[in-house]
Amino acid sequence: MTACPSRQVFDVVVLGGGIAGAALAAQLAGDLRVALVERESQLGYHTTGRSAAMYIPSYGGPAVQPLTAASRGFFESPPWGFAGRLLSPRPVLHVARADQLQRLEDFAHQNRDTAALRRLSGESARLRTPILRPEAVRSALLETGAGDLDVARLHGGMVRRAREAGATVLADAGKPAIVREGSRWRVRTRQASLIAPTLVNATGAWADETALDAGLAPKGLAPLLRTAILVDAPRELGFHDGPVVKDIDERFYFRPFGGRLLITPADETPSPPCDAAPDELDIACAMMRFHDAADHPVTRIHHRWAGLRTFASDRAPVIGWSETSPGFFWLAGLGGFGIQTAPAVARLAAAQVLGHRTPRDLADHGVEAATYDPSRLSEAAHPIGSPAPCQEPWVTADGPPGLPGY
Ligand SMILES: Cc1cc2nc3c(=O)[nH]c(=O)nc-3n(C[C@H](O)[C@H](O)[C@H](O)COP(=O)(O)OP(=O)(O)OC[C@H]3O[C@@H](n4cnc5c(N)ncnc54)[C@H](O)[C@@H]3O)c2cc1C
Repeated sequence: MTACPSRQVFDVVVLGGGIAGAALAAQLAGDLRVALVERESQLGYHTTGRSAAMYIPSYGGPAVQPLTAASRGFFESPPWGFAGRLLSPRPVLHVARADQLQRLEDFAHQNRDTAALRRLSGESARLRTPILRPEAVRSALLETGAGDLDVARLHGGMVRRAREAGATVLADAGKPAIVREGSRWRVRTRQASLIAPTLVNATGAWADETALDAGLAPKGLAPLLRTAILVDAPRELGFHDGPVVKDIDERFYFRPFGGRLLITPADETPSPPCDAAPDELDIACAMMRFHDAADHPVTRIHHRWAGLRTFASDRAPVIGWSETSPGFFWLAGLGGFGIQTAPAVARLAAAQVLGHRTPRDLADHGVEAATYDPSRLSEAAHPIGSPAPCQEPWVTADGPPGLPGY
């Protein structure tokens, strides 16, 4: 006989234990009764555990940059016993071939007020990253305010803080059944039946599916698959302290990572939500683009993985109350910037859940809640296109990717 799940009453149930859900739970737990519910047995198993761990102020355009800037203070001196800085400096070298010089100009112009950019000749760029081929870098911009984030410590610290402040954290919850009962939501997991007036959808690539489960229309959020490989790094002295090298059109980037070299073709293949797996063609594409840009033999791939970066049609995050379903809160569409914006995103979301104004320091950085309002998106505006090869959802037999740094 199956045991009856216990019933528990909360102020807020947060669905999704990636960085978005964990950071919001950490933010709210001191003020409200919070349950953080993760479908998988391991929190952070999906996109959060598969990132490249970068903090890049210029990244993501005008909707994302204020959130990134407003998160820097948290990373540099984190509260809640994170035990030290979460951000260590590493510049980004934005490189352009001769035929991309106009693009480099445009990038410098667009980011003149938001990022610290220094122009370098191709020769100077190659002094910083000697494996770059001369024809791959005619000119470059060095972005100095960028850095590496300690994602494991960030995410683990958010979950710990949530627990310590009184949140209930339920992992391995299975796919919850969601039912609207009067003015409250009932979320039935494997372990318990949870009741709360507020339901937060922080389910990453599954955000549209979760909305449908709760009886709402989807927002057309598109999960796009990105591939990464880890190979042997060049042996030259100083390589591991060197910059991230990023093509100005984001057709690839490579970077020192956990004692090896991380390469990505910066692919964006439409995918259904699933346990994303790398595709051989994307790996071949990564190697080809890397070899076009750099003179360094790749003899062995030590690790390969893929993750789903989920975007709204305008590529801005989706943060705010549903306009159609009271008590349903969107915290999704965090694309390729969900780690570097997590502290500010969580504070903006927490302020709205608590019925407060946007915190003053976020507003001072240019964060405007209206930019992220879910009502800006017409329903299902974003066709998902042809699915990439993926494992079936929830087939996790190979376990998590086990990345260095996570
Ligand atoms: C290769 C790669 C490189 C990246 N590099 C960077 C970078 O350098 N810097 C950066 O800032 N960002 C980067 N990103 C993006 C970043 O990782 C994401 O923006 C971020 O992790 C999204 O977090 P999330 O919590 O929204 O999603 P997720 O981490 O995917 O969390 C969502 C969670 O919801 C759970 N879930 C789904 N459905 C349900 C349900 N019904 N009930 C309960 N739980 C559910 C899932 O199991 C999952 O754990 C990168 C991403 C990839 C793939």
